[in-house]
Amino acid sequence: MQKVCVITGGSSGIGLSIAQLFVQKNYQVFNLDLTPSAVGVFKQCDVSNTQQVTKIITEIAKEHTIDVLVSNAGIHYSGNIENTTEADFDKVFSINVKGAYTAVKAVLPSMKASNKGAIILMASDQALVAKQNSFAYNLSKASLASMAKTTALDYARYNIRANAVCPGTIETPLYHKAINNYCEKSGENKAQVHSEEAALQPLNRLGQPEEVAELVYFLASDKATFITGSLQVIDGGYTAQ
Ligand code: NAD
Repeated sequence: MQKVCVITGGSSGIGLSIAQLFVQKNYQVFNLDLTPSAVGVFKQCDVSNTQQVTKIITEIAKEHTIDVLVSNAGIHYSGNIENTTEADFDKVFSINVKGAYTAVKAVLPSMKASNKGAIILMASDQALVAKQNSFAYNLSKASLASMAKTTALDYARYNIRANAVCPGTIETPLYHKAINNYCEKSGENKAQVHSEEAALQPLNRLGQPEEVAELVYFLASDKATFITGSLQVIDGGYTAQ
């Protein structure tokens, strides 16, 4: 029977590569995103809207057993604690953390009923090490690492595995947006900043979304049946320093 993967934020960057790989591996993919994509079955959804997420996933679960959830939708925000407004803080948390909480909660009844399931939360290397001027984002990604661990413990009895993936700097539209914002504010040259960013990674390059997709696919597969509650770093060696 065709396996089912629900992904959030599958229309761009890392999420798009994941959706493409799962489709290629013959999964039925449901993509909950703000912006449409031709890959998988698109479901228009704002992950910060609890009712929308719950309704869409509950409807999918009426027709299908959900094998995999990839909670990937996320936004970046630059700012230290003082210049992060309450509204900015709430926005980052409502998408990055509450969005994941709602999606995980919504897939659990289907996974519990089938006594299996794989949940992958897209955290970041910033779950493990802080980066400057990234207060709300750092905090949100550390929360996802904790969400993976606590979900792994609470649902191990149902054979449901939960892991967090912690990518380093990956070349996606989000990355380019963050660099553009930085250069606009600092007046620095984008090509220069880009090569400096690559030089920060021990492998001397940025990661590609396809590389993260391969890790997510492995974690969802039957080759990873003893892996749960883990933080999987994929960062070109950045956090080994
Ligand atoms: P991206 O901006 O290219 O893609 C993000 C996707 O999420 C988009 O399709 C966007 O429409 C969707 N999205 C955003 N807000 C949403 C919302 N409220 N509801 C539904 N969908 C929404 O970003 P990316 O770089 O591919 O990042 C994907 C994930 O990986 C994010 O959680 C990000 O924090 C994480 N991450 C990225 C990097 C990196 O360097 N690019 C590193 C570590 C972790």
